Amino acid sequence: MPNSSKQGSDGRGQRIVPAKSSAAEGLKELFIDELKDIIYAERALVKALPKMANNAFDAKLKSAIEEHVAVTERQVERLTQVFEILGESNRGKKCDAMEGLIKEGESILEDTEPGPVRDAGIISASQKIEHYEIASYGTLIAFAKILGEEEIAALLLETLEEEKDADNILTDAAYNSINLEAAEEDQA
Ligand code: FE
Ligand code: FE
Ligand code: ZN
Ligand code: FE
Repeated sequence: MPNSSKQGSDGRGQRIVPAKSSAAEGLKELFIDELKDIIYAERALVKALPKMANNAFDAKLKSAIEEHVAVTERQVERLTQVFEILGESNRGKKCDAMEGLIKEGESILEDTEPGPVRDAGIISASQKIEHYEIASYGTLIAFAKILGEEEIAALLLETLEEEKDADNILTDAAYNSINLEAAEEDQA
């Protein structure tokens, strides 16, 4: 063998990360772990999104985010249903990514003056959040289908559609008004 065949190495000198004792052995366990990640993330958003809404200057943006808080509460409920179907505890597991995305959203508030520029920043942060969710639910649906969990796949698909709708509403708000208004601040 040309490459290192030493145990625990991938041949580029990178160590193969040893698994924790709690590590998932099959796809079903990985699926449950990722469901725990996303329910943590959704619960964190229920708490974090109102601050974004309160800081939004544009009335339509504010109400779109407020509406998404209500949608997010229902998404938590839907995930609770998923855990019930699986007969698993709905305790979340810390989602480092969502914690980071929320922190970044909070820094954008501090880094912008209230008004159109802050609104453009709120849209930026919110779309990063929606895209993380879209990626997560896409994977979860693929896992549910291959595991034969059709009822769960259907529930997760409802949420995926809501995340896509939220993303589209943010895109429209940016293109139709907020980015233009924010750019006008450069002339002011
Ligand atoms: Fe969500
Ligand atoms: Fe995560
Ligand atoms: Zn997550
Ligand atoms: Fe969302």
